[in-house]
Amino acid sequence: MRLRSNDNVLITKGRDRGKRGRVSKVLPKRGRAVVEGVNVVTRHQKPAGAFRQGGIIEKELPLPLSNLMFYHEDCDSASRLGHRLMADGSKARVCKSCGEVIE
Ligand SMILES: [Zn+2]
Repeated sequence: MRLRSNDNVLITKGRDRGKRGRVSKVLPKRGRAVVEGVNVVTRHQKPAGAFRQGGIIEKELPLPLSNLMFYHEDCDSASRLGHRLMADGSKARVCKSCGEVIE
């Protein structure tokens, strides 16, 4: 899995299965990613000092990468990612369903 921030993903497992969202943060060490609007929990938080407001807050919890699949908007499908070596020696990510280079 080579997801990055701002990638679109499809949730393939769990409570939010079938949802789509944008990756806001990848946590490689934990093998997880935060997806906007997905896996939202409400926390009832007590105020703690000036920086933490009390009340009910909504928070996105990171999801395991294995529950996510890259979603390619250009070809409108959930896809695996491949790599392609470009002419200049850099590596680019490629959508395996349409073969297009991503970004
Ligand atoms: Zn594609």
